[in-house]
Amino acid sequence: MTTFAELGLAPDILRALDEMGYLTPTPIQEQVIPLALQGADILGAAQTGTGKTAAFALPLIQRLLPFANTGTSPAKHPIRALILTPTRELAIQVEEAVQAYTKHVPLRSLVVYGGVSINTQIPILKTGVEILVATPGRLLDHVQNKTLMLNQVNTLVLDEADRMLDMGFMPDLKRIVALLPTQRVNMMFSATFPEEIRKLADSILNQPTFIEVARNETAVNVTQVVHPVHHERKRQLLAHLIMSRDLRQVLVFTGTKLGCNRLANELNKLGIHADAIHGDKTQQERIKALDAFKAGTMRVLVATDVAARGIDIEALPFVVNYDLPHNAEDYVHRIGRTGRAGASGEAISLVSEAETRYLKDIEKLIGSDIEAVIVPGFEPDAADVPAYQSRPPRPDRPVERSAERPAAERPAAERRTQRPGPKAAPRDTLFEAPYEPSAAAPADSTSALVRPTPKEQVAALFRSPVKPDSADQ
Ligand code: AMP
Repeated sequence: MTTFAELGLAPDILRALDEMGYLTPTPIQEQVIPLALQGADILGAAQTGTGKTAAFALPLIQRLLPFANTGTSPAKHPIRALILTPTRELAIQVEEAVQAYTKHVPLRSLVVYGGVSINTQIPILKTGVEILVATPGRLLDHVQNKTLMLNQVNTLVLDEADRMLDMGFMPDLKRIVALLPTQRVNMMFSATFPEEIRKLADSILNQPTFIEVARNETAVNVTQVVHPVHHERKRQLLAHLIMSRDLRQVLVFTGTKLGCNRLANELNKLGIHADAIHGDKTQQERIKALDAFKAGTMRVLVATDVAARGIDIEALPFVVNYDLPHNAEDYVHRIGRTGRAGASGEAISLVSEAETRYLKDIEKLIGSDIEAVIVPGFEPDAADVPAYQSRPPRPDRPVERSAERPAAERPAAERRTQRPGPKAAPRDTLFEAPYEPSAAAPADSTSALVRPTPKEQVAALFRSPVKPDSADQ
């Protein structure tokens, strides 16, 4: 078995890994680290949970070691590596990892993201940091304010590039890339590779090595089940599943922020401790909710796709799709929250008749049908479920994974061998608008820096004035 030392990492980095309990590299680390240490551009197909953060961060850190110094002058600490992530949560997690990996080397890092005062970020930026983790919008706010310089960046990492694209960050990304020196190392990671991601990779990466760890690796450990149900009975069904099966640490996805809040409230009314996280919540609220959820003191976390992105909870046991995502690739992202690090998990989808078309898209993308189990007492009425008539109702029980059944026992539709390519995310022309800096963005005025994204303008009537860095669903 390969060790981190054999991958060529420096002793100070190895010491930090040892202290973190990283014993052996994960498959993506084993593949990426040696190449990235040589300065190769990398295009990585990997989801959160595979260890991709260390895969890009460790070689990045090692390549900065010659610049590591304890000097106090800001000029000695220019930004040399830029890591872009789609969401604040992911940015925070990545920077926490960087902090841990650099524990024994004098390299500084900082995370900047929107939704919080820019003023706290400026003084730290002024003292100088070598590694900056940022969400695109806030980074551009700093560029606009001239509170950071990117002209010495020698490494660029785009993490969860597909999500950045989905969230409309393409114009921002282009603008940021144009500000960087052309001589640099690039690494881009994405869980999915629709056409637009390939184009983005072509435009940013220089003859990259493509590295893939089993795309649906996380799903291998995840039992998937669909519960057909009338849309008006979803809430009761969810409460029933939680109570009757005594589910704890349940991450529930809803399609909208409004639905997210409402569901959390209703669960609380039913005596099930729940909280909601979405783009309208302040950073502090999100962190508080996440901490309570991670600690196990809060049973259910209801989230939108964007807010849940990057949540890293070891061995999250249950993910519930209260609403099916309209974009099939989001399903893969969602269920990637569970079954981490070899632990098994269960992905439960509550599917109303109107959502069967999304289910079909998902099944097409993952290359197999998901077993449908009608929960007694929650039968959708006959007119509701034409898609399920061929599948007999089954009792509510822990389901076997359909993929494990012998092919001959499965319905023909399930015995597909051809995996169709991923579909491009639907385009939203509102998102294609270029970055517009807030008018006269003085460094001392946070509100002036609050740059509504195009989508936020549309949603302005429904939300609090707190600005998420990223558009949310
Ligand atoms: P990531 O996919 O980068 O979000 O990492 C998922 C989780 O795995 C994080 O909690 C990491 O700290 C952890 N991790 C990453 N690499 C290793 C490793 N080689 N050994 C043990 N844990 C790891």
